[in-house]
Amino acid sequence: MSLRLQILAIFLVPVAVIGALYAFGLTIPIPHLGRDYVIRLALPQTAQPVDLPEVLGPPDRTRPLVVIDAGHGGKDPGASVEGLREKDIVLGLAKSLRDRLVEEGGIRVALTRDDDTYLILEERPQIARRLDADLFISIHADSAGDQLGVRGASIYTLSNEASSEAAARFAARENRAGLGVNGVVLDAQNEAVNTILVELSQRRTQEASAEFASLITREGEGVLSFHPQPRRSAALAVLRAPDVPGVLYESGFVTNPEDAERLTSDEGRAQFAETMARAIRIYFARQADLP
Ligand code: ZN
Repeated sequence: MSLRLQILAIFLVPVAVIGALYAFGLTIPIPHLGRDYVIRLALPQTAQPVDLPEVLGPPDRTRPLVVIDAGHGGKDPGASVEGLREKDIVLGLAKSLRDRLVEEGGIRVALTRDDDTYLILEERPQIARRLDADLFISIHADSAGDQLGVRGASIYTLSNEASSEAAARFAARENRAGLGVNGVVLDAQNEAVNTILVELSQRRTQEASAEFASLITREGEGVLSFHPQPRRSAALAVLRAPDVPGVLYESGFVTNPEDAERLTSDEGRAQFAETMARAIRIYFARQADLP
């Protein structure tokens, strides 16, 4: 080895050692003036597509978990009229419901967003699935353009057609990803069997979602102001998790003055939170009775 290379090596070896320590995320103690200084190197997390939100409520993981999704956010304001944006209204409602559930205790709660973050649609049910949630509620508000008289809340569940179509696509996708549904690991060899398994899970999920939707209309009768036909179904991407029962709650119309007042006042938010929390409790109590 030439002298030049030896000198180079003397300089490069410590750099290589520190680099290797960095790569393995180790800390390097440096004795200095009688005190120990530690350099901590935070390594970026890999394979974490979205940070999972904090779960509030009892630490006991056997308690039921509800994931509340405030629609829109960030660059997507949702339905808006002057001074009112859907993304703000629904975040207010979501936080009121979260606070109410945490206050009453016994149920774990997480929000898909608790600030003005933009989330794509698919991320929302994905968060619920990854947290292994027992119930999912996506909160929205509607606009009726210049039809100021149109008002009232509606509850959407996933339509049957969209449900079986979603089941087939889910089976194909999860098949590739090697994931399971409801604790059943899908067989990578048999797409037909997978579709049946996912459809069975989807059907149970649909029944549970429909039951929760009925509880909202029952408990909200005379308290929440419902649309004349409050129960609807549609092909909503946000409700396509095959193993997490869920509804999309259209809380009312930003274009209707009474609805807008109800959705943005402390009193209106409290009524919503109280009613919805009661429906959630009854739902979980019934599910716990099931064999
Ligand atoms: Zn919306």
